[in-house]
This record gives sequence, structure tokens and C-alpha cells, in this order.
Amino acid sequence: MARRPRMCADCLSAPCRCPPKRPHTCDACGRAALWDKNWTWYGSLSDLDDGKPVVKACSNACRTALKAAGRVPRNAREVGHD
Ligand SMILES: [Zn+2]
Ligand SMILES: [Zn+2]
Repeated sequence: MARRPRMCADCLSAPCRCPPKRPHTCDACGRAALWDKNWTWYGSLSDLDDGKPVVKACSNACRTALKAAGRVPRNAREVGHD
């Protein structure tokens, strides 16, 4: 079964339609890369509308690290995660 790509936190598209000049930075490992299906962000659409920063993770390991570090808000929605 095909997995749905995760919606990008910046352009709210899946796949990401951000220009290549604007890579995403992972909040766990600091890696900057283009959004792909391995990325996840935490928060709400209203946070994005308000321009609030959201926590982003580039991989499964980084998601785990962010959660372990308490960086993910308790009420955050994990966007695009099946
Ligand atoms: Zn994007
Ligand atoms: Zn990462």
C-alpha cells in the first residue's frame, strides 16, 4: 500500500512545493534538507497561520529524539503521520 507523503509545514503541500532555496531544518539533528515523506512536523494549522514556529523532524530517529527531549508540545498534532 502506498504511503501518503507528509504535508510540508511551510507550503502545506504534499509533496513539498517550497523552492529549493528554502530547505527545512530538522529540530533534532540540525540537518537542512528538502521536505520529503520522512519529515514530520508537530503543531496545529492555526499555529502556522499565526506564524508560530513548529517543531520539525527529518526522520523516525529524530522524531523519537524530539519526543524524548520533551520538544514536542503535549497537544501537538503529528501532521501527515499515518
Ligand atoms: Zn514546503
Ligand atoms: Zn533530523
